[in-house]
This record gives sequence, C-alpha cells and structure tokens, in this order.
Amino acid sequence: MLALALLVVPAGWPQTGIVAALLGVVVGQGMVNHRRTDELIDGQHQLLEATQRLHGQQLVIEQQNASLASQVEARTVELRDANMHLAAANLELLELDRFRSAMLSNASHELRTPLTGILGSAQNLRDGVAGPLAAQQREYVQMIEHDSGRLIRVVNELLDAARVESGRVQLQREPIALHRLIDDVFGLLQPAAAQRGVALQRRGDEPVVHADADKIRRVLINLLDNAIKFCRPQGLVRVSVTNVGEALSVAVEDQGPGIDAADLPHLFERFYRGRSADGTPGSGLGLAIARNLARLHGGDIALDGGSGRGSRFVLSLPRIAAA
Ligand code: ADP
Repeated sequence: MLALALLVVPAGWPQTGIVAALLGVVVGQGMVNHRRTDELIDGQHQLLEATQRLHGQQLVIEQQNASLASQVEARTVELRDANMHLAAANLELLELDRFRSAMLSNASHELRTPLTGILGSAQNLRDGVAGPLAAQQREYVQMIEHDSGRLIRVVNELLDAARVESGRVQLQREPIALHRLIDDVFGLLQPAAAQRGVALQRRGDEPVVHADADKIRRVLINLLDNAIKFCRPQGLVRVSVTNVGEALSVAVEDQGPGIDAADLPHLFERFYRGRSADGTPGSGLGLAIARNLARLHGGDIALDGGSGRGSRFVLSLPRIAAA
C-alpha cells in the first residue's frame, strides 16, 4: 500500500515521508524475521541437545539391559546348579531313609525273636514248669516277664512305624461293624483297665465301615491304651461313635491330666513323649503310627478340647473307601 502511495502522492516531502515509513516497515519486519529465525535456531539447538541426551540415556539403558541379562543368566546358572545339588541331596536323603527303615526293621526282627523266647521262658518258670518257685524267685520272674513284654511292645511299635513309613502297608478293606471291633479291643485291654480300676464305656452309632480291620484295631488299641494309661485311677474311659454323613468319628475320652499346651505341636511326632508321660511306660510311637494308619484310610486323628479336663482324641474315617 505504501509502495502504491508513492505513485500517487506528489514528489517532495510526502514521498520522502512514505519512503521513510516504507523503510521503517521493512526494517521492522526484518527484525521480527530475524528474531523468529533466532528462535527457530535456538529451538533446533534445544531439540538437538534433547535428542543427544535421549540417545545417551538410550545407551545407558541398553548397557543396563545387557548387564541385567548377563546377571539373570548367571543367576539362572547358579539356580540350576543349586537345583542339581538339591536333587542329589534329596536322593541321598531318600537312600538314607530307606537304609534307616531297613536297619530299623532288621534290628527289630532280630530283637523280637530272642525277646519272645525270654518272655516264654519266664512264663514257663512262673507256671512252675521247672518246679515250684519261692516267693522271691516268683517276684524276679514276674519282673522279667513284665520288662520283656514291654520291650516286645516297643519293638512291635518300631516295626509298625518302619512298615507304615516305608509305604509297604497295603490295606485289606472289608466291611467292619465298628462297634464289634471296639468291643473286641475293650476285651483285649480289660485287664489293664481293671488293674487301674478304670471303667470302659461305648456309646453312640453302630456303623459299618469299609476299612482294614487289623489296622483300625491297631489305631483303637493305641488310643485306648493311652486313655487307660493316663486316666485317673477309678476313672472312666468313654468311646463315642457318631455318623457324620459319609464319614464317621470315634471319640476316645479319658479323665486324665489332659495334654499340656506345650506338647500340642509335637504330639504326633515319632518318639515324642509329652509331659503327661512322666513315669509311664511307652515309646512315643503310638500316636504317630495311629495317625499314619488313619491317614492311609483317608481319615485322620486329632486332639479335641483343651487340657485339664482329660483328653479327647477323635479318629475320623470315611465310611466308604474313596475310589
Ligand atoms: P507313648 O504313650 O508311648 O508315650 P504316644 O505316641 O502314644 O506315645 O503318645 C505321645 C504322648 O502324648 C505321650 O507321651 C503323652 O504325653 C501324650 N498322650 C497321649 N495320649 C494321652 C492321653 N490320653 N492323656 C494324656 N496324655 C496323652
């Protein structure tokens, strides 16, 4: 517009004014352009710097990645090595365990035969097979009888434990009338109960259970033997049977000292004897064997109830074997 104005305004100062204005506009525009160019160059510099920074960071990340990958690889190799060592140690332990079971079983067999001989001879002596005995002789023979009987029981328990743990026990399941089995065991333990004046009582349901009669008898003997042993003299040992749907529970209660809280976590461990065992004979194997046998049937044994009011052990069993 200013350039066109030059054509129409008269020469002289008006034209000079317009030229000056024109120059002013051109110079102003030039300065603005210059500033924009500076800004653009500045921006480009910043972009370049940022790109270089990013590139630097990318290099660092790549290095870290490479070092992480090599660390992971090293750890994987270490883990693989550790795993192999563990597997070897495990194998060794299994071997040792097999060896221990075999040792235990052999030693127990070797012990049982002479012990049975000693017990038999003592019984013969007591029965007067070798002539009448004087009172003191009779007393000694009774001690031999008592102690060898006790040793045979311990050896039998050791054999049972070794057999159950080795996994060699096969269940011979058959339908059992549980109440009859309990009455059988009552008959077996009656002399021990009578000696302490302890009464035995059974109550509750009379179910048929699909189980191995010998093994369940063993479980009941262990539980009832303890109940009689720990019950207060002249006390009551009660067995209650309850049907619970597809399962049943057999509770064995006594009127003894109960189980000390400190013994609870260890009660079913092999060779563990609790505070209540003080002075009573036993091997600490009974409950461990009983629980293993119950579990072989798909059942279990648990202690129910606190200490001080006697003990209550509950055997639970599925009535029909799981397919
Ligand atoms: P043992 O009777 O030969 O010592 P068990 O394995 O049968 O071994 O029992 C482990 C421990 O549990 C016993 O030493 C005893 O302290 C405790 N115990 C088991 N049954 C009873 C019970 N009915 N009353 C009190 N304590 C018991």
